[in-house]
Amino acid sequence: MNKVLVSACLIGENVRYNGRIKHHESNMLADWKLQGRLVPFCPEVAGGLPVPRPCSEILCHDGSTVLHGHVRIMNIKGKDVTQYFVTGAQKTLELACLHKTKLAILKDGSPSCGSTYIYDGSFSGVKKPGKGVTTALLQENNIRVFSEREISKAAKYIKTLEI
Ligand code: SF4
Repeated sequence: MNKVLVSACLIGENVRYNGRIKHHESNMLADWKLQGRLVPFCPEVAGGLPVPRPCSEILCHDGSTVLHGHVRIMNIKGKDVTQYFVTGAQKTLELACLHKTKLAILKDGSPSCGSTYIYDGSFSGVKKPGKGVTTALLQENNIRVFSEREISKAAKYIKTLEI
């Protein structure tokens, strides 16, 4: 059975920066949880950040450039938190390898887990196309990343793996 790495906040774990639970209602995630298919994980907590924590944004470009040391991640208080994000991404990849996971469902918009958009670094709620640091590292290692809006697409991908 192919395991699915999932952002812990999508299945109700209290790991978000603001300490609020945001459960993502999905029958498919509930079924996969029952089957023991899900591997929940929060890269930012694994990287050493607390709950709650000041929100952080990638200053320019996206998670790929952070990963390769060209851009920093700052929190809203002006502290450089890049290393926490990079460590969290590396720990996520280690877990994915341990479970031989070929796909992940990650919360979009996050500087770690975003896959189609992130915030633009101005802390004013402006979105831009791009991916988070963990998503970038997983994709570089041939792990498919789907957002929470693409769960049915992920289910089809699993079927192709399990034929
Ligand atoms: S989006 Fe990712 S990093 Fe943010 S709380 Fe959810 S699992 Fe953690």
